[in-house]
Amino acid sequence: MENLKKDIRRLSKKELQEFFVSKNLPKYKGSQVYEWIWKKGSHDFDLMTNLSFKHKMLLKDNFEIRHVNIDLHKKSLDGTIKNAVKLYDNLVVESVLIPTPKRITACISSQVGCSLDCIFCATSSLKRIRNLNTDEIYDQVILMSKQSKYYFNRPLSNIVFMGMGEPLLNYNNVLIAIKKINEPEGLGMSSRRITLSTSGIPKMIKKMANENVKFRLAVSLHSARQSLREKIMPFAKKFPLEELSDSLKYWCLKTRKKVTFEYIIWEGVNDKKVDINALVNFCKMIPSKVNLIQYNPIENSSMKEASEESVNLYVDALNKAKIKVTYRRSRGQDIDAACGQLANKLDLA
Ligand code: SAH
Repeated sequence: MENLKKDIRRLSKKELQEFFVSKNLPKYKGSQVYEWIWKKGSHDFDLMTNLSFKHKMLLKDNFEIRHVNIDLHKKSLDGTIKNAVKLYDNLVVESVLIPTPKRITACISSQVGCSLDCIFCATSSLKRIRNLNTDEIYDQVILMSKQSKYYFNRPLSNIVFMGMGEPLLNYNNVLIAIKKINEPEGLGMSSRRITLSTSGIPKMIKKMANENVKFRLAVSLHSARQSLREKIMPFAKKFPLEELSDSLKYWCLKTRKKVTFEYIIWEGVNDKKVDINALVNFCKMIPSKVNLIQYNPIENSSMKEASEESVNLYVDALNKAKIKVTYRRSRGQDIDAACGQLANKLDLA
């Protein structure tokens, strides 16, 4: 079997410095390499211009950089770019770059497939294959940061964990990747520009609240009635709304930040007065705002987006209760890059 070299990104800065010292070379060379692999996101020793040929050879003999590659990308009519990102073991996840006049957002994946079973989401048909490692999460950001400059001549402004997978079921790797994205020695991107979106795993929300994290939290709620939520998000049987609301109260108390509830309104599913009242009451318990999301239809599903009238009823009720509400238009629908449409179709094209 092929003997894999060590991935250089598994080394801390100190270890890299020590590696150079152990070869009778200056310690600062280790810092330079560290800067290349993290801050500059370099995936190629040959492009590290402040290293001599000898140093590059030394690195190549000892290490490799197991980075992801963009296999294919498609551009939507609205500018949204969907990337099929190939991992070292040839599995593919998807990352989406979404330009708007004010911001450029990278929507990244945290798992290959997903173990949750939301009936309205295309990713749930893929099942969960494995968690992404820290570098694979970080690399998606690097790749899209380069794309953002190349295609739009603007830096990436926001990151959302709304691609494939449930980030809180890949907790450690996601948190380490976010830390690296934040660090001045990494991408130096402020936590305020990062949003982690979860289907709502109460235990993990509490754990995260205890870690003094500074990023934003979004929760895919879609119904504030337990019986209905269990029907559209069956895993929710294990995580009742009561536990979810407890964990969110705790999150708000600890982080002093509001939670955003993501919410799709479907015709005949959650467009009744009882649904609206339940959401308003739920929001009253938790410092929060609501982001109504346009439904992106998926294959083999009869679910249909609710009428504008139903959306307005929700908006009016939330406004009346002084709960902030926004409406998110779908992006990249023509290339299946919109929320819930990520199911590796590119790969099959
Ligand atoms: N597992 C996480 C992150 C991935 S889903 C979560 O559930 O939050 C990212 C967002 O897309 C969630 O708000 C999810 O509810 C939403 N979504 C899923 N399927 C969708 C669809 N078909 N149309 C619109 N949004 C969808």
